[in-house]
Amino acid sequence: MLLTHAPVWNFYAGPATLPRPALERAKDELLNFSQTGMSVMEISHRAKPYMALQSEAEALFRELLAVPDTHRVLFLQGGATLQFAMIPLNFGLRGGYVNSGEWANKAYKEAKKLGQPTLVASSAETQFDHMPEFEPTAAKDCDYLHLTSNETVQGTQWQTFPSNTGVPLVADMSSDILSRRLNVKDFGLIYAGAQKNLGPSGVTVVVVDENLAARAPETTPTMLNYRTHIEAGSMYNTPPTLAVYMLRNVLAWMMEQGGLEAIEVRNGRKSDRIYQVIDRYPDLYQGHARISARSKMNVTFRLPDTDTEKAFLKEAEAAGLIGLAGHRSVGGCRASIYNAMPEEGVEALVNFMESFAGRGR
Ligand code: PMP
Repeated sequence: MLLTHAPVWNFYAGPATLPRPALERAKDELLNFSQTGMSVMEISHRAKPYMALQSEAEALFRELLAVPDTHRVLFLQGGATLQFAMIPLNFGLRGGYVNSGEWANKAYKEAKKLGQPTLVASSAETQFDHMPEFEPTAAKDCDYLHLTSNETVQGTQWQTFPSNTGVPLVADMSSDILSRRLNVKDFGLIYAGAQKNLGPSGVTVVVVDENLAARAPETTPTMLNYRTHIEAGSMYNTPPTLAVYMLRNVLAWMMEQGGLEAIEVRNGRKSDRIYQVIDRYPDLYQGHARISARSKMNVTFRLPDTDTEKAFLKEAEAAGLIGLAGHRSVGGCRASIYNAMPEEGVEALVNFMESFAGRGR
């Protein structure tokens, strides 16, 4: 095959690298989806082959995450960002929020537009370098407790989740969904935009306790009401069919990898390799997250000054290591190593970081 450029390793935070076999499958099936003689983009979402595809995607997701019968899996649009508003509109205007960084804060700010949320805890005073501590019952008078399982910008992650909170736990898992096993029963609602661990942008996966969804007031606009989507099997209006197709390909690939148990172990190995280099050269690479909060998905670090950072990013790109600049709001560097990043890609980055350090600055 002719490549127009050398192979690259893609460390973008999202949209992010996708599993090669999932892309190859899309290429093979593009002009003839499910023996229809048409592409998946061209057929009715009510046609049997599409309905079968969406059911397969849902079944794969349920199996991978061991979703219990109490919870429904929905495929919605509007990104994780629309969930920031849907949650209070369905569950109540007095949620409790844990402010752990950029994304948790956005969710809290949206809830403030609609109602009177409570700020339960924050790690703002230490530049969000850890997940804030709080009493499990701190939100007991709130409608729900919202947290962000992985802060994509700061590179911090909850290692375990609070239990016995007395109110439904709602979690934004956009940047670590299906990267590790979970007890879904502990959550009232989990949501994630697909474009990091699940597929391309355009579909948002929501896992919701059906009893909790029953709470939505009648005045909730139709499209913003979880019950609408539960009743319609995520087909109230036209679903993002191509994004759901790619989601199915990614989930099927995950199953072939051995499911979440195998993926979780591999994710641990991958992030350990990069943190080891950071710890070996503390004068050059300064990790942002406290060790206890280090993310296995987004590894964030700074170099001593912006000139060295610029040189690092430029040389990395020349070596085929793409997308390592930190989020525009914080700068620095960030290696996003979601499920689809092969260990080889991580080794390429680790080797580059070692050789950059070895060049003596
Ligand atoms: N939450 C988190 C943790 C994210 O990383 C992002 C996107 N980077 C969002 C929410 C917003 O997602 P979307 O762009 O799908 O609305």
